[in-house]
Amino acid sequence: MTHETYTLICPECGSRFDPAQPQTYCHACASPILAHYDLLTLSQSLKRDEISTRPRGMWRWRELLPVQDQSAIVTLGEGDTPLLRLEKIGSSLCCSNLYVKDEALNPTGTFKARGMAAAVSRAVELGIHEFVIPTAGNAGGALSFYAGRAGCVAHVYMPSDTPAPIQAEVKMSGADLHLVDGLISDAARKAAAAAAENGWFDVSTFKEPYRVEGKKVMGYEIAESMGWELPDVIIYPTGGGTGLVGMWKAFDEMEAMGWIGSRRPRMVTVQSNGCAPVVRAFQNRAERVEFWQNAATIASGLRVPAVFADRLVLRCLRQSNGTAISVSDEEILTSQRELAEMEGIWAAPEGAAPLAALKELLRIGWCHSEEKIVLFNTGSGLKYI
Ligand SMILES: *Cc1c(COP(=O)(O)O)cnc(C)c1O
Ligand SMILES: [Zn+2]
Repeated sequence: MTHETYTLICPECGSRFDPAQPQTYCHACASPILAHYDLLTLSQSLKRDEISTRPRGMWRWRELLPVQDQSAIVTLGEGDTPLLRLEKIGSSLCCSNLYVKDEALNPTGTFKARGMAAAVSRAVELGIHEFVIPTAGNAGGALSFYAGRAGCVAHVYMPSDTPAPIQAEVKMSGADLHLVDGLISDAARKAAAAAAENGWFDVSTFKEPYRVEGKKVMGYEIAESMGWELPDVIIYPTGGGTGLVGMWKAFDEMEAMGWIGSRRPRMVTVQSNGCAPVVRAFQNRAERVEFWQNAATIASGLRVPAVFADRLVLRCLRQSNGTAISVSDEEILTSQRELAEMEGIWAAPEGAAPLAALKELLRIGWCHSEEKIVLFNTGSGLKYI
């Protein structure tokens, strides 16, 4: 009998895992495990309007996050990023309700900060002091700084062609950086072997339960910013899918607490033509995502050939009546320049991909000009120079 405010359950087989111990994933199903809070009880004491009056940041939503003792929170000020209206690009596309959630304003310049704030805080609370991560780049940067702030050691395995500022960031933090010839999938093999040998805690995407908890807060923030009415469409640059699955989870939690109704946005995955395993699986009506050979794109955060949470990602896209679309690196660069020149936003390539996708979705009539559309800029362009 534990006294944690949540339980951990495998979404595939329903197995329960003890939240008072460090947990990874359901090995029987090779599936992520997810936190479930007692939302009915919470909703009696926790009011959405009270949360709106709290000091800014991700931890405003602490009752819905896994950390038990608030003094264990490791924060650098993540969360509460702006939801900016795109007036000029909107009018050029005849979209009157176009927004970007600008995640570049997070610590370490990407939304990876949210997930790492949650995962590192809870892991340290459970007695972990040494972390390892295979990363396409930004997750390693975020882990390095959150682990450092917590007085812990981070071992980071990343492709040797990761943009220089991201490598520099990890080095600056004092973390232990291992450059790997190959992709995140190759880094994952090395990291897993080192983790097993040294007893380090692996915070790979969805291989522990709490990064998704941090990222789900993006869903709460969007709902609050829009007066508790969700938008019609959310376009999200998808690598491992943490944010997509997280926001979808947040919407269910909000409905269970009576904060929103049953209406949901259509969720859109955007990937690069050079690495689009989720798009291919969605188009093939598959339940699983197959490994993408020879992945290559300038959007390094989307250079993720294997998707561990594939079932959850595909279910979110289908249940929401959403879709998955890929764009070329050239289209990404064009959209990146438009966001900079017309709207004052220097987006990461990943963060420019949703605009490129929107143009195509408007052209084929999947999105309509009067719809409320939220694009995700997931990181700062400064990390890619
Ligand atoms: C990691 C990353 C993504 C992909 O995020 P997921 O939630 O894992 O799908 C997108 N953009 C940037 C800048 C990233 O670092
Ligand atoms: Zn299971």
